Amino acid sequence: MKEQQDRLLRGTALQGRVRVFAALSTSLVEELRRRHDAMPTATAAMGRTVTAAAMMGFMLKGEEKLTVQVKGGGPIGQIVADANADGEVRGYVSDPTVDLPLNPKGKLDVAGAVGTDGALYVIKDLGLKEPYRGTSPIVSGELAEDFTYYFSVSEQTPSAVALGVLVDVDYSVKAAGGFIIQLLPGLHDDEITEIEHKLGRLPSVTTLIDQGLGPEQIMERLFDDVKIMDTIPLTFACSCSQERVENTLVSLGKAELESIMRDAGRAEVSCHFCNEQYAVEKADLERLLHDIK
Ligand code: ZN
Repeated sequence: MKEQQDRLLRGTALQGRVRVFAALSTSLVEELRRRHDAMPTATAAMGRTVTAAAMMGFMLKGEEKLTVQVKGGGPIGQIVADANADGEVRGYVSDPTVDLPLNPKGKLDVAGAVGTDGALYVIKDLGLKEPYRGTSPIVSGELAEDFTYYFSVSEQTPSAVALGVLVDVDYSVKAAGGFIIQLLPGLHDDEITEIEHKLGRLPSVTTLIDQGLGPEQIMERLFDDVKIMDTIPLTFACSCSQERVENTLVSLGKAELESIMRDAGRAEVSCHFCNEQYAVEKADLERLLHDIK
């Protein structure tokens, strides 16, 4: 079987009255798991969130980008994912060591890790003076339902969202992906019922991906007339750099920098998003201090 590359697709169905987005994100979620050394429940929660964020990023244009924050009050803390219109995504979870017993259905207990008392936040940088901010309460903690609810209450777009991460016995990510089906005005009630029936009969996304299906074939299973408009690679990308770390240190101010100089003589900073370690040595700290003065 040919190795499937991570990708995002968008298309339409039912003569343009349905908009579809789908993602294959196995390699991306595996890279995040590896970078954060995440345990299975944390991997699933983080993976579902970044997969949703990736598809939402693909709804944007040009330089636009977005951040998704999930704060459900559970042991995992918050999940943060950044995505842009080019399929570049990064993400982290406050506590990647969270691993819970399987839930009564025998599945990873994502809701137990995320919690059900909190909200989902979406911040979109659309190049305007103020970012767009949307929010909706966490209704299930399993995340797909929470994003479905977000689209319906915050963006007034009735949608069906599916997200899945399959973790192997060695904790690596075996399959990850998802889709977002947006129902546009003009659909008849019987068409909506038909879509609901098809969604109800569809095996889970990870089952389909594990069987070797790509996002294109999954969409074809749902809609006979699906038209794929665009497919792009989905990749992990972090914008951190030595220069950004130094800028952050400068933003702490002169007094704080002098105190770091005195106490440690150097600074070590790790990026939340990718876990990359940056060291700022004494000479560099002196240069930064000199620049402030
Ligand atoms: Zn980074």
